[in-house]
Amino acid sequence: MRARGWGARGLQGRAGVSRIYDRVALIGLGLIASSMAHAMREKGLAGEIIGTARSPETRGVAEEIALCDRVTESAAEAVEGADLVVLATPVGVMGDVAREIGPHLAPGSTVTDVGSVKRSVVDAVSPHLPDGIHFIPGHPLAGTEHSGPRAGFAGLFLNRWCILLPPESADPAAVERLKALWHAMGANVDVMEPDHHDLVLAVTSHAPHLIAYTMVGVADDLRRVTDSEVIKYSAAGFRDFTRIAASDPTMWRDVFLMNKDATLEILGRFTEELFALQRAIRTGDGARLHDYFTRTRAIRRGIIEAGQDTAAPDFGRAAAAKEES
Ligand code: NAP
Repeated sequence: MRARGWGARGLQGRAGVSRIYDRVALIGLGLIASSMAHAMREKGLAGEIIGTARSPETRGVAEEIALCDRVTESAAEAVEGADLVVLATPVGVMGDVAREIGPHLAPGSTVTDVGSVKRSVVDAVSPHLPDGIHFIPGHPLAGTEHSGPRAGFAGLFLNRWCILLPPESADPAAVERLKALWHAMGANVDVMEPDHHDLVLAVTSHAPHLIAYTMVGVADDLRRVTDSEVIKYSAAGFRDFTRIAASDPTMWRDVFLMNKDATLEILGRFTEELFALQRAIRTGDGARLHDYFTRTRAIRRGIIEAGQDTAAPDFGRAAAAKEES
């Protein structure tokens, strides 16, 4: 019972959304894959969900919490008969995973990924996929600093963007079907080209993470981070850096190594601006600082108007805490 004509908007909001894929294989069972499993289950979007991860521990947890219908020991086994395969490992191993699963993919199936970097994933994965497989890379712009199979939740993608990066030769029906899945999981979908994606994400995500890692590292170098004063007074800014800097080390190592050029380009610009602001402070150029901060404040307003964050004081934490209690 497969929905025909994947009118993404048509599917969204329809009571009892139809099954979109018969068998989905999730390779890697971390935050993103487990959130997809919960979201697909909640809406009945997949007939069957098969999962696999590298370690017996993670596979054991997935079985214990019944994350998937079936957990396999290898990726090759997981993809047998799947009409959608999702690569949800750190980006650095996606090429190896593609080499392993290539010979086992069902003819006509779709392979996608959720990696935070796109050009190097496309280059690493494409050569291993046989003819007749639809490779449609993707990247949901949603996440938390938590990882692993217990970290997922069905609402992770709600009102977030998912970027799809189909090659020009992609089969339009396969692209529409994958779009329909993301829409049904609550995301908005945009289409982009890999190099452009990597530059945009270097600005909006990769460089900010590196800056957060650096700032927390600086505090640690000062031997103050464990002092009660730093923790006690961290609400103003530093606390948000520590949250970002708690993100998964393997994932972020791979992101920087695999989005090297775009990240270095943005960090070069960042350093120039930092020096300019440093100079303004040294020379007492208050007008320059004020103009700069006025411009950045407008960007924050734009993000809130676009519905991508809350205008509530303290990022809505107080309100969220009340709702939970
Ligand atoms: P995660 O929680 O760190 O989990 C990664 C999963 O991949 C684990 O289950 C791990 O298994 C498995 N894995 C690693 N190497 C493997 C291999 N060779 N074969 C099979 N499984 C393997 O990951 P995540 O945060 O969901 O991130 C997954 C992908 O999504 C990454 O490419 C990341 O760039 C992207 N992404 C992440 C976020 C985010 O905020 N977290 C947002 C958007 C996109 P073990 O547990 O056994 O090691």
